[in-house]
Amino acid sequence: MHSLKYLAGYPPHLQDKVRELIARDRLGAMLADKYPEPHAVRNDGQLYDYVQALKNRHLRKAVPLGKVVYDGKLQVLKHALGTHTSVSRVQGGRLKASREIRIASVFRDAPAEFLKMIVVHELAHLKEADHNKAFYQLCVHMAPDYHQLEFDLRLYLTQLELGRS
Ligand SMILES: [Zn+2]
Repeated sequence: MHSLKYLAGYPPHLQDKVRELIARDRLGAMLADKYPEPHAVRNDGQLYDYVQALKNRHLRKAVPLGKVVYDGKLQVLKHALGTHTSVSRVQGGRLKASREIRIASVFRDAPAEFLKMIVVHELAHLKEADHNKAFYQLCVHMAPDYHQLEFDLRLYLTQLELGRS
């Protein structure tokens, strides 16, 4: 039986449905059908602009963005769907906090909706460090279907691993 590490926090009946999709070899096709749109955010410069645009729309007053990069070494699950570090630097005599956002490079080739989901997740961390209620409210504010997207992203990552093995 497939252990479904990306779905460990979800109810057993949902996990069973996913196992059934896998057993019938339907998971990949289902996701491709539901998320056909690729995105054009190919490099770190484009990623920075993409993140900044979303931030301007929803979180204008949050701390300024620092570096924004795709990171090939980041493991999505281990780093809780991304990573978020605070970097403080002295700028012109004043301590200015800026935030670095690293996005696992698997998202470079993922459907557009999943890139948006992970960026929304990381932007929400500019205001909330933990995965608490306020954090998810921010996520839903930026992406109303956030919870469905996160679930489907976990399916996508599951499918990617199946394809590799
Ligand atoms: Zn997080």
